[in-house]
Amino acid sequence: MADPADVAIIGGGIVGLATAHAVLAARPQTRLLLLEKERGVAAHQTGHNSGVIHSGVYYRPGSLKARTCVRGRALLLDYVREQGIAHELCGKVIVANGAPERARLEELARRALANGVPGAKLLTGEELHAIEPAVRGEQALQVPGTGILDYREVARQLADDLVKAGAELRTETEVYGIRPGRDCLEIETSGDSLSTRFLVNAAGLQADRIARRAGLEPGVRILPFRGEYYFLRPERRGMFRGLVYPVPDPELPFLGVHFTLTIHGEIEAGPNAILAFAREGYRKTDVNLWDLAESVFYPGLLRMLNRFRGAALHETVRSLRKSVFLRDLQALVPSLVAEDISPGGSGVRAQAVYPDGRMADDFLLLNSPRALHVINTPSPAATSCLAIAEELLGRIPAPGAT
Ligand SMILES: Cc1cc2nc3c(=O)[nH]c(=O)nc-3n(C[C@H](O)[C@H](O)[C@H](O)COP(=O)(O)OP(=O)(O)OC[C@H]3O[C@@H](n4cnc5c(N)ncnc54)[C@H](O)[C@@H]3O)c2cc1C
Repeated sequence: MADPADVAIIGGGIVGLATAHAVLAARPQTRLLLLEKERGVAAHQTGHNSGVIHSGVYYRPGSLKARTCVRGRALLLDYVREQGIAHELCGKVIVANGAPERARLEELARRALANGVPGAKLLTGEELHAIEPAVRGEQALQVPGTGILDYREVARQLADDLVKAGAELRTETEVYGIRPGRDCLEIETSGDSLSTRFLVNAAGLQADRIARRAGLEPGVRILPFRGEYYFLRPERRGMFRGLVYPVPDPELPFLGVHFTLTIHGEIEAGPNAILAFAREGYRKTDVNLWDLAESVFYPGLLRMLNRFRGAALHETVRSLRKSVFLRDLQALVPSLVAEDISPGGSGVRAQAVYPDGRMADDFLLLNSPRALHVINTPSPAATSCLAIAEELLGRIPAPGAT
């Protein structure tokens, strides 16, 4: 592209792809360029997640997460039905044991109602037992609209649609620098230098760095939290009808280790949430010195660890010891034994943390001149992607308007 693109999007994850899709659907004449540093789309968060279509139970009413999850789920279901992408609405239960968890479960039921989650219903222990006999719980919230799919398939379909609609998708093209040009932004990449009238930063785990390169201090740093899974052995696969979750700690943006059915017929247990030594580090031993130094010298890290001392210690021990992971799973499913679980895959969440140690609770959409940055995209951003794209579209100028 010799002339500037109208819109360049950094990131071939599901948020960047969905945004490109929304732009071209609304304004088919847009000259759109999507830049992805890996060989294919969905190489990071989008390709390493639990594959759950969330319903919108957990999120603070009125937040971007709550709004985009409920709307995004509906848009995603329309899209996957249209495209013939495999999915299943298997439903889930969130299970409480003990008075504090029951109180938090009731708060979740109120949130589900406030967020407009269809069909969410509190169950007694007996009602739970009738649905999920293997699960121990005094009370549960049943969420029938939760589903499963493989977000890699959604991403690949979105990418195919984009190319058919005339977008230019450049893989193996890493963005290194962004500078203001004349009526445009100049983008320095591992390939050619490019220019665009408007930039969307959907770089996931690298989004704060891209924002800084574009001249915006986002006020947060992305800290990578690896989520590790175990697989349940095939003989145990028939044990659940749907997904089974504990009541999460309301102070943390993670859902607690849970059981997920995958659209490929497996059962996964996890993910935990452990600080990673590399933003794209999928194994315990992966270390990227630059990423590590950026995390360690960030004042927000120490404050966060101080604030969540107990949880951080528990996560570390649980990551290192299968017996501790198993014990947490047995709190939900007492019949589980060590031979039932074997190590599975992992994913890394891009969690933005403020300098005072607070973890960003909501997606952050920030503007800089000629650019829009999506900074914090942990769960449920895959479910929400098409609704996040609608939000972004409203902030991206039409061709000719810049
Ligand atoms: C363990 C785990 C479980 C999860 N489970 C769920 C779930 O069940 N349901 C759900 O809705 N959500 C879930 N999520 C969250 C979901 O996966 C993410 O919210 C979503 O994938 C974010 O998509 P993204 O496009 O913002 O980021 P990504 O998928 O990470 O994409 C960003 C892309 O930008 C590219 N990039 C980065 N820097 C550059 C650069 N300089 N130049 C060019 N390209 C660049 C990267 O290579 C990457 O492909 C989970 C996440 C994790 C990690």
